[in-house]
Amino acid sequence: MGLYAPGSRGEENTGFACVRCGELIPAHPRGSYRNHCPRCLWSRHVDVFPGDRAAHCLGPMRPVAVDYSGKKGYVLIHRCTVCAAEDRNRVAPDDDFDAVVELQRPSG
Ligand SMILES: [Zn+2]
Ligand SMILES: [Zn+2]
Repeated sequence: MGLYAPGSRGEENTGFACVRCGELIPAHPRGSYRNHCPRCLWSRHVDVFPGDRAAHCLGPMRPVAVDYSGKKGYVLIHRCTVCAAEDRNRVAPDDDFDAVVELQRPSG
């Protein structure tokens, strides 16, 4: 603890490349926090709480479901493919809506 590994920067508030499709994801637009790919909706297990980058898992997080709440709008549910942690994230305005709708369909 307290040690900074070489190459680890104090700031990670920049864009990142999608673990799934390689899409370069820009830093959050208009102050809304974003942690998933607008194209395929996959995320990465980097946060314990949104934005804190406190998780060391770094596993790819698959979008498993979408919830609709009248207040928040669409909420994506991600599950880490490595440690099975689940996370909820609001859908961003520029997310691929078709991909969101696809998740809503009952499988099978
Ligand atoms: Zn992607
Ligand atoms: Zn994980």
